[in-house]
This record gives sequence, structure tokens and C-alpha cells, in this order.
Amino acid sequence: MTAAQDQELAGRLATLRERMRAAGADALLVTNPPNVRYLSAFSAPEDGAVLLTQDTVTLYTDARYATQASHEVAIRVEVVPSIDDAVADKLAGQRLAVEGEHMTLGRNRAIARRLGNEPVAVDGFFTALRTVKSEREVAALREAARVTDEAFSAALAMMGPGVREVEVALCLESAMRLAGAEGSAFDIIVASGTRGAMPHGVASQKELAAGELVTLDFGAVVDGYHADMTRTVAVGAVGAEERRLFEAVLEAQEASLAALAPGRTGREIDAVARAALGRHGLEEYFTHSLGHGTGLVIHEEPRLSKKSDTVLQPGMVVTVEPGVYLPGFTGLRIEDLAVITSAGHEVLSKSPKGFRSV
Ligand code: ZN
Ligand code: ZN
Repeated sequence: MTAAQDQELAGRLATLRERMRAAGADALLVTNPPNVRYLSAFSAPEDGAVLLTQDTVTLYTDARYATQASHEVAIRVEVVPSIDDAVADKLAGQRLAVEGEHMTLGRNRAIARRLGNEPVAVDGFFTALRTVKSEREVAALREAARVTDEAFSAALAMMGPGVREVEVALCLESAMRLAGAEGSAFDIIVASGTRGAMPHGVASQKELAAGELVTLDFGAVVDGYHADMTRTVAVGAVGAEERRLFEAVLEAQEASLAALAPGRTGREIDAVARAALGRHGLEEYFTHSLGHGTGLVIHEEPRLSKKSDTVLQPGMVVTVEPGVYLPGFTGLRIEDLAVITSAGHEVLSKSPKGFRSV
């Protein structure tokens, strides 16, 4: 590990150990995959778990991953036939904390039987930690955003009337993989024409047609970190109303993005976009919240929404994605990824977002 990684991990462990003490637990079994990856860098966290005590931190996994773990993981690794049996045997009689939101009842029951007492369910230990990214995490997100931008350029070059939505999605996916992504952050959305009124319209067999708007929402995963970007483009010439909607959403996106700064709340930023769309009589068509944090999962804290009291701090990474959806007619959204900095913010998505036709 580099000195920076060492220091980063030491900070995370100190916070978690403090929480374990407060919860009266001797050890914490981390099973939620993003949290396993957060502590270990292990890229198959679904098949691993991290056990944390006051003086040890160990990744448990099985023999299929012995080589992979030895390459990726800087903490101690134990290769065992059954993670839960090994952990329960090691801790017999002690107080074990488990992640209540992730542990199933059946798994908990089996651990309790072997441990000789009931594990303590704890939640939210990682939320505040993961919400503020380290420089290394921001670097991974910056690279994920760069790969996402590269894929958008590739899609622009092949889009046009008669091209199916799934072909556009496959182009985005292969361009991201070839540019270094370990995967796609979520099912790619390509929604053209009236399908654009579905905020989560995943790519279908529909062909793009002249006169339509088409919304692409996608992101690359790099080192476990998820980028997220949306662009809307016109196919050929579109009508005046589509053009008016586009300019209104762009105005709302640029205004709310510009408002991102430490000390502002999620609710305040969301309100900037809503007010901008309101000036165009479109507020009622903006039916979701403005944005969300991303990191080891695609949707995480903080939220930019009507209900969010979260105060933005340097190191938080958020999307800003207003959209309007008019059922039976069209819909569109524009989304950038940005990191809050002490001076304000840095936009990680670099793809041009002004009106354009393919
Ligand atoms: Zn998105
Ligand atoms: Zn998003």
C-alpha cells in the first residue's frame, strides 16, 4: 500500500472501531459488498466479508479467489471453506455486530447458533464515511467520467435515423469496456421519441426516427466507482416545442450545477432547478429529484431533493440531472457528475451538452 492508502484505511478503521465500541461489540462482520470493497479493495466483494476487531482487520473469502485476493487486497486475507463458520468459530462467545440492513434472517440464525449468542444488528456505520470521498476515490470517479465521455463520442458517430436503441446501448457499453471500464454502472437508458417520457426507459428494439429527441443515460465503473451521465440529442430536425423543452432543461441544469458549493443543502440546489423550470411553466413535468451521490454504488448519499437537509461538503460527489417528461409526447434529461470542492465544485463530465442533431 502507498502511504496515502495506508492513511485512508487507518482513518476508516478508526471511525468504525469507535462505532463498534459505542455499540458494545467486540467485532464487526462487514457483508454488504460495497462496504467489503471499501475496506479491502477486493473486486469480488459478493464472495467475501471483512471481519474487524479492535486490533485486526481480515478479508475472508474462498479458494476460488485466493490468487485474485493476493493481488488486490492489502489487508490480511483468510481463505476458508465457509466464511460464516470461520468467523463464528473465531469469535465464539463474543459480541459480534452485523450489518442489519444486509444480513438475512437465515444467515443470522446460522451465525448465532455457532457463535452461541445473538449478533447485534448495526446500521449506517459506513454512510457518513462513504459520502465524503478521498482524493483517491475522486480520481477513480474522474477516470470513470472520462471513460463515459469517450463512449458518448463513439455513440454520436453511429447514431441516426434507423439505428435501433439497443445498437446505441451496445455501442456505449463496448466503448466503455474498451476504454477501461470494468462494467456498466446500470442498465443503459436509450429512450427516443415518446419513450423519452419514461425517465428509466432502458434501450429497446425501437429505431430512432427523424424529428425525435433521444435521451442516453449511462456510466462506466472504474475501480468499483460508478459514473453517471445523461445527454439528449435530436435526430434530424425537431419541432419548436422539443427545442423549447431542451433549452429549458439545459438552463435548469446549468443553473443548479452552478449553485453547487459547500454549505448549501441538497434541498436548496434542487429548488434552483425547480424554479428555473417553473419560469418555463414546466415544473410539474419534473417528476424526480435533482440528483444523487455516486461511488461504490450508483445511488448513494447525498441526495439533491426536496427533502434533503444534507449540507454539501468538499469531497461529496453528486449528479445534477433535471428532466421533463410529457407522456405521449416526449421527454428529456441532462445530467453531469460533479465533485464539491472547497472553492465550489468541479464538473467531472466533460461531454458537450448544448443542442445538437445526429
Ligand atoms: Zn444517470
Ligand atoms: Zn443519475
